[in-house]
Amino acid sequence: MVIGRNRNAQLIINEDAIYSNVNAEIQRLDQQTEMFMVVKANAYGHGAVQVARLAKLAGATGFCVAILDEAIQLREAGFVDEPILVLGLTDIEDLPLIVKYNIDVTVSSVSWLKQANRVFEDLKLKNKIKIFLALDTGMGRIGLQSSAEVTEFLDFVNQNANNLILDGVFTHFATADEHNHDYFDFQYQNFKNLMQCFKTKPRYVSVANSATSLWHQVTGANMIRYGVAAYGLNPSGQELIAPIKLNPAMSLTTELVYVKKVNPGRSIGYGATYSIDKAQWIGTVPVGYADGIWRSMQGFKVLIDGQLCPIVGRVCMDQFMVRLPYEMQPGAEVVIVGKQGTQTITLQQVADQCHTIHYEIACGFTERLPRVYKTLSKSNGGNNHEMSL
Ligand SMILES: *Cc1c(COP(=O)(O)O)cnc(C)c1O
Repeated sequence: MVIGRNRNAQLIINEDAIYSNVNAEIQRLDQQTEMFMVVKANAYGHGAVQVARLAKLAGATGFCVAILDEAIQLREAGFVDEPILVLGLTDIEDLPLIVKYNIDVTVSSVSWLKQANRVFEDLKLKNKIKIFLALDTGMGRIGLQSSAEVTEFLDFVNQNANNLILDGVFTHFATADEHNHDYFDFQYQNFKNLMQCFKTKPRYVSVANSATSLWHQVTGANMIRYGVAAYGLNPSGQELIAPIKLNPAMSLTTELVYVKKVNPGRSIGYGATYSIDKAQWIGTVPVGYADGIWRSMQGFKVLIDGQLCPIVGRVCMDQFMVRLPYEMQPGAEVVIVGKQGTQTITLQQVADQCHTIHYEIACGFTERLPRVYKTLSKSNGGNNHEMSL
């Protein structure tokens, strides 16, 4: 998809918000615990390279991504020394790249490890394969589940210590963002049991995503994988209150491109689902579902001239229409997410409208929306000029 640049719609990313969110959580960690900033999916839509830079400034010491290409993107952008962990599983065929770029990979089976070891020897790779072992304590996604498997895994790593290095071990909680702790406690107990298999602990032991880090006390770990909360979004949606202030970093603004009066008898949009029964002012906004504005946003109210104006008719691929309380001027700012005057629309509200979670909305904004960075203020180490990518 073409990266949008020359258009009157943009995602505005507030760098101070990300910086302060990361920094606030690092302040709460104990001395030996590090933060790996999770920048997968283009940093949840915020821009992976820019966010990685901010997170590093704010004290993060490593990064997590979902796929190998995201890791390579960071290396090529100049993050040459920081550990970068690919949280998903990678293909054996990509081992040469994994080793070349010095990436840590998540491993979830002894058979992968054996294959990797063989490929390492066949290709005479130079640098060791750096591994994080995933433990499935109840998420049911990836990872070893039993002590027998973990022991076999660790034995194999030890026997092939010339080729393989176990950098870390991690598990992932399924319900860390809920009031009820029963399933969390079940997983935590499973984790402690599996950790008994380790004679020596690897460099990194990690149990916490944002929710676990914010709301749970866990001992024996020394690295958190901090994602959504760094973007200022509450991992629990509205269920739990965060112990620190989370500053939302993302806004989405555009403008009215067309305004007209529509007479009774006409309708608005595909399917002619919104009928005009008395004359109304209707505005057109130049973003649609190809930008990540879901069709289910129909009915949602956006901010224009300080007024909440409902989206009427179906959202189109590239445009949608709004009902205006009076004649407004083309060029008037439209805020879909963020502040206008004293009012604010949150990603949570958008997510509620779409019956989903803010994570899905944020990473659903497409490349067609330019990301514009509201640059870090001097007090946070920035030089305070607006930069656009
Ligand atoms: C995405 C992900 C995270 C980050 O989760 P947040 O809820 O965004 O903090 C951490 N660990 C794993 C394994 C993940 O896949």
